[in-house]
Amino acid sequence: MAPSSSPSLPADRRPLVISGPSGVGKGTLYKMLFDRHPETFALSVSHTTRAPRPGEADAVDYHFVSTPAFEDLIARDGFVEHAKFGGNRYGTSKMTIEEQGRKGRVVVLDIEMEGVKQIKQSTISARYVFVAPPSTAALEARLRGRGTETEVSIQKRLDQAVNELEYAKTPGVHDITIVNDDLETAYKALEDFVYKPLE
Ligand code: ADP
Ligand code: 5GP
Repeated sequence: MAPSSSPSLPADRRPLVISGPSGVGKGTLYKMLFDRHPETFALSVSHTTRAPRPGEADAVDYHFVSTPAFEDLIARDGFVEHAKFGGNRYGTSKMTIEEQGRKGRVVVLDIEMEGVKQIKQSTISARYVFVAPPSTAALEARLRGRGTETEVSIQKRLDQAVNELEYAKTPGVHDITIVNDDLETAYKALEDFVYKPLE
């Protein structure tokens, strides 16, 4: 049985790549994992050109950068992967992965599908978790309920959700798909997957 609250490293220490439509609850789920297993996980803090939401802090939630700064990092080959999403750019820097990996914790990446494809083509050996919504209506309600997006941004995210769900049907792309309906049930599925013994 998985431990309920302890700083215990999982047997499988590979990075965890968590993807799924925007608003499905990825952040909610991995923050629960971080809270219940302190000092065990390290978020790969991405770079983004989008503006911070209220409550988001630079270098904690994201490295918030300008488009020229983002493009400069691409030119310097500083990203493991990067993509455009909803009109903004997002990327995982090589430096972030190295820094977080040095902590001896399991690195968690929260990225969209183009980034997932690029990580799969990289030298990084990772585990892939897909978080699916119970329904499109529930996804839309969550995105709206979060209260962080404009109507335009909500529509872009819902459009992209269709592509994310389609890609997730490709056999073998994810190691587990978790339907985030009841939050505690979904959390338990994530924790069990993360802490399952090595095969
Ligand atoms: P993501 O990181 O995938 O964009 P969030 O973690 O920000 O999504 O969650 C989006 C919204 O949905 C938040 O307001 C969150 O509180 C809510 N939420 C997350 N999981 C559930 C759930 N199982 N049931 C209902 N609401 C949820
Ligand atoms: P948000 O703006 O809601 O924080 O994130 C929007 C989308 O961008 C989410 O699907 C999230 O997983 C993805 N994302 C966040 N950081 C990265 C990143 O570094 N690379 C890629 N490819 N996607 C990212």
